[in-house]
Amino acid sequence: MSSSETAIARQRFAHLPTPIEELPRLSAELAGPRILVKRDDQTGLALGGNKTRKLEFLIAEAHQQGAKTLVTGGAVQSNHCRQTAAAACRFGMDCILVLNGEKPQRPNGNLLLDRLFGAEVVFVEQRSERDRILQETFDKAAQAGRRPYLLPYGGSSPTGALGYVFAMQEFMQQGVSAEWIVFGTSSGGTHAGLVLGQRLHAYPGKVLGISIDEPEDWLKSHVSSLATQASERFGPRIEFTPDDVLANDAYCQAGYGVVTAAEREAISLFARTEGMLLDPVYTGRAAAGLIDLLRKGYFGKDDTVLFWHTGGQPALFADQYGDTLL
Ligand SMILES: *Cc1c(COP(=O)(O)O)cnc(C)c1O
Repeated sequence: MSSSETAIARQRFAHLPTPIEELPRLSAELAGPRILVKRDDQTGLALGGNKTRKLEFLIAEAHQQGAKTLVTGGAVQSNHCRQTAAAACRFGMDCILVLNGEKPQRPNGNLLLDRLFGAEVVFVEQRSERDRILQETFDKAAQAGRRPYLLPYGGSSPTGALGYVFAMQEFMQQGVSAEWIVFGTSSGGTHAGLVLGQRLHAYPGKVLGISIDEPEDWLKSHVSSLATQASERFGPRIEFTPDDVLANDAYCQAGYGVVTAAEREAISLFARTEGMLLDPVYTGRAAAGLIDLLRKGYFGKDDTVLFWHTGGQPALFADQYGDTLL
C-alpha cells in the first residue's frame, strides 16, 4: 500500500486479528456450501463488535482535535454507543449518549453497560427528534468547554470506515479464501470499508451487505460515497458508484429491531448447530438473509461463504428482545 498509509492516525486497542472459524454443522444442516465466520464479535472492547474497529480511528481523530468528551447517538440498545462509552473510559474521556426509544424501567442489555461506563444519557422519545437533540447536546457541551467530538450514528464517517479497510487487509493476510463475504449493513461504515478494502487489497470475491433497516438504493449511494471519501486517505481518490456496492434489502421489511420468525430461526440455528450466539437486531437478521439465500441456491455449491459476525450480543439480555427470542 502507499506510504500515506503510515500517516493515518490509529489508536490500537482491538484484539486483532479476529479468528476465522468453520461452521460445518450449520453447513450440513442447510445442505449448503462451506460456511466460515469471522469473529468480529470478539474484538475485545467491552464485549466486542464491529464498532471497536471504527473507534480505533475515531478516537485517534478525537485526540488529534484535542477532544475531551465523546458525543454520539443511537437506539436505546445501540452497540455503537456501548462501545463508544467503553472507549471513552479507556482513554479518560467523558461520554454523552443521545438515545432514542423508551427509557426502560431498569437499565438492561447495552444500556446497563452504558451506565456502568458512566456515560451521561439523554433520552429522546421520537427518533425524528434525535438529529436535533444530538446537535443541541454537542453545542451545549462545546459552550461548557467540554471539548466535544461528535461521532456520527454507527461511527460511520469516512474515518470510521477506515476500520474495515484494515479489516479487509487483515482478512487477506489470514490466507483464507472465500468467494463471498456476507454481513449486516445499516449505517454503512462497515460496508464502505470492506468495499474500499476489496479494491485496495484485490479481494477477488463478492461483498454482500444484508440490509438491517435501509433501502437498497440508499445503501448503494451512501456506501459508495463513504468509500470514495475514505479512499483519499490512502492516495488518489477512487470514485465508487452505486453499482460497485452489493446490497440486499429483502429482509428488513419488519422494521428496525423487530424480531420475526426469520430472525428467531437464524438465532436458534446458529445456537443449536454451532453453539454460536447471534444478536436480535443485526446478526440475527443478516443470518436470516444468509440462510434464505443458501436455501434458494443463490451461492454456488462449491463456493465458500464467509459470514462476518459484527457482534451485538448484549442486546440478547435486553428485556425488549428477550421475550421474543424463544
Ligand atoms: C452497527 C452494527 C452493524 C452495522 O454496521 P454499520 O457499519 O452501521 O453498517 C452490524 N452489526 C452490529 C452488531 C452492529 O452493532
